[in-house]
Amino acid sequence: MALIVQKFGGSSVSDPDRIRAVADHVVRTVRRGHQVVVAVSAMGKTTDDLIRLANAVLTNESAPAEKAVKKGEVPIKGDSREMDMLLSTGERISAALLAMAIDDLGVPSASFTGSQVGIITDTSHGRAKILEVRGDRLRQSLAAGMVPVVAGFQGVSTGNDVTTLGRGGSDTTAVALAAALGADECEIYTDVTGVFTADPRVAQRAHRMARVSFEEMLEMAATGSGVVALRAVEFASRHHVKLHVRSSFTWEPGTIITEEDPTMEQAIVSGITHDTSEAKITIARVPDRPGIAALIFRTLADRHVNVDMIVQNTSTDGATDISFTVPKFDLSTAMSICNSLKEDVGAMAVTADSTVARVSIVGAGMKTNPGVSATMFETLSNAGVNIEMISTSTIRLSCVIRAEQVEVAVQALHTAFGLDA
Ligand code: ASP
Ligand code: MG
Repeated sequence: MALIVQKFGGSSVSDPDRIRAVADHVVRTVRRGHQVVVAVSAMGKTTDDLIRLANAVLTNESAPAEKAVKKGEVPIKGDSREMDMLLSTGERISAALLAMAIDDLGVPSASFTGSQVGIITDTSHGRAKILEVRGDRLRQSLAAGMVPVVAGFQGVSTGNDVTTLGRGGSDTTAVALAAALGADECEIYTDVTGVFTADPRVAQRAHRMARVSFEEMLEMAATGSGVVALRAVEFASRHHVKLHVRSSFTWEPGTIITEEDPTMEQAIVSGITHDTSEAKITIARVPDRPGIAALIFRTLADRHVNVDMIVQNTSTDGATDISFTVPKFDLSTAMSICNSLKEDVGAMAVTADSTVARVSIVGAGMKTNPGVSATMFETLSNAGVNIEMISTSTIRLSCVIRAEQVEVAVQALHTAFGLDA
């Protein structure tokens, strides 16, 4: 008998039929002798709809500045505390419905909010971090032979307010529950059959990976693979929670994300990711002296702008250009910060470019294989793609390119690194 956490994403529970199909799968797992804890996302696009609803209520000018969060296309205007109250209801609906459906099939089940199962977070609304999971309520429920269904994406703060964990946060809920309960596995059910070597909508010859290491998955999630939320992968890697990403439409085995297997030879490049959600800012001709970069990036950090790639040119006659990327939804904040610092730092101009994309190659074998970067640059060059910025980690290489060339670039790299199925 194993203890399994099963997480179902929004598309898996988008309507009553889907909810019944999911309930049926949970019940089958229980009947095979396993203990199951379920974490669930809001039905379909409920979260986006709730955000739109809030934005429609807020017509006045005094509404806080728009901010959007990675996965949602809809920017959030509302006050964070009330937004969290509002958005947490989406997952309550799906959790209650799923518990009813499981119960209906003859297996006792009960739904719980994040707060009820003791998911304690800090007080940063909209992007709260989990501080502690008190699993007693879940353990009692399991001991009583029930299937607890936990509303994902939410917790309760140390100040006793409802919080949410950021878009895609139900993945984090599931992993946190699995860690707290010492579960054998955390299954993430979604609408794709696993993690692919590239986005199959872009690279037709992409294929599902049977397994991928945490290290690689972290890099992939950070550079555009949207299958599992980055924070959930980080949490899983830190707490050694084995993940299994799979489809709730076909139910076939998917991709296992786990510790690297030292006995297996590592692929040089395991996957290609791309990301068009970032924009590039260039601060032209800043004086080349200590303290300038510190001032710029400290100010951006204080306003929670998430800076990604940074490139500074070599200095010519005492001045240098600094370019960096930020999420598009942070672009206006970042631009106003940079413009207001322009005088202070003595820069000549600040420009923004939101028609960029980033392509990345990720692979644990890159550590020990020279020449990977040369192959990447040659491949892009042969495809007529110009490289605007480059960044690397031990197992990743990323290039910023023109957004309109992203498909060509991904396909060319997928072929060049032998990933075509
Ligand atoms: N419902 C939330 C969202 O859409 C959380 C999640 O789906 O994981 O971001
Ligand atoms: Mg979702």
